Amino acid sequence: MSQRTTFKLGGLARVFLEPRDEQELLAALHWVKSESLPLFVVGRGSNLIVSDAGWPGAIVCLAANFTGADWTEVGASVRSGTRLTEFVVQAVGRGLSGLEKLAGIPGTVGGAVFINAGAYGQEFGDRVVEVKSLTRDGIWRERSREECGFAYRHSTFRDNGEIVVSAMVELEPGNVEDLRASVRETQKARIDKQPLDLPNAGSLFKRPVGGFASKMVEEAGLKGFRVGNAAISEKHAGFAVNLGGATATDVWNLSAEVIARVQVSHGVTLEREVVFLGDF
Ligand SMILES: Cc1cc2nc3c(=O)[nH]c(=O)nc-3n(C[C@H](O)[C@H](O)[C@H](O)COP(=O)(O)OP(=O)(O)OC[C@H]3O[C@@H](n4cnc5c(N)ncnc54)[C@H](O)[C@@H]3O)c2cc1C
Repeated sequence: MSQRTTFKLGGLARVFLEPRDEQELLAALHWVKSESLPLFVVGRGSNLIVSDAGWPGAIVCLAANFTGADWTEVGASVRSGTRLTEFVVQAVGRGLSGLEKLAGIPGTVGGAVFINAGAYGQEFGDRVVEVKSLTRDGIWRERSREECGFAYRHSTFRDNGEIVVSAMVELEPGNVEDLRASVRETQKARIDKQPLDLPNAGSLFKRPVGGFASKMVEEAGLKGFRVGNAAISEKHAGFAVNLGGATATDVWNLSAEVIARVQVSHGVTLEREVVFLGDF
């Protein structure tokens, strides 16, 4: 999984499946069930750390084949494997506003629905009208926005395990040049502030009530704090980075130590935003 995740670490998956269409996805689901394997869905692995021991089950990846969007005047039905940034750039080119601040997030639309990806005041879930998903029992669902239960870095798909297949998104008319300027500004802010030169998985922790995780980690003196070859970024204390040769255990232990120290320094229990898969 080191080749399938942006942190560039993690062991083998027992089976890695890339269905070509909905029929194959359904067939894959039935096969995985018949083999009694645990199932995990992955997009571009930009919010994911897989255990060094790997994953003893099947991983279904929709990033390769479930791509593209069918556009209307006011939005699109977008397949879940589509790169989020690509989708945002297309929307902007059509003069459609509402997601431009999410440009630069390196995941898929499916991942953005699952985690309700957000940045600079915009959240993906705010623009969702409906999500098509597949239950673990092989039943197709069309979930209204209300049913998706979007909240800060949360959707109902985190709880029910359904596979997000596509999303219907509604946007607002905007000025193409203004929107493009907004995308450039956002991407510049990311380049200026984030450690994009080192493998990472975005924010390590969720924003706690009443503050910012990065600020607390920095105030606790943990910028540059290192466990093995994983470290809290010197550039942005909200990110953990792979200095080269880090293990998933390094990242887990690093996050555990940071949680413990911020608990002491600020009395706040940070919660991991990055998904850890497998044994830790
Ligand atoms: C440099 C950098 C910057 C980032 N900036 C931001 C940011 O500003 N805001 C933000 O919110 N996030 C940010 N992230 C985190 C990450 O890119 C997002 O959370 C993204 O939405 C994850 O998408 P993914 O396809 O990579 O998901 P993955 O990492 O592959 O998976 C993450 C979770 O989503 C689930 N999932 C993925 N696809 C599906 C699907 N089709 N159906 C059901 N479940 C699915 C997985 O099972 C897993 O639990 C950043 C990451 C990096 C590396």
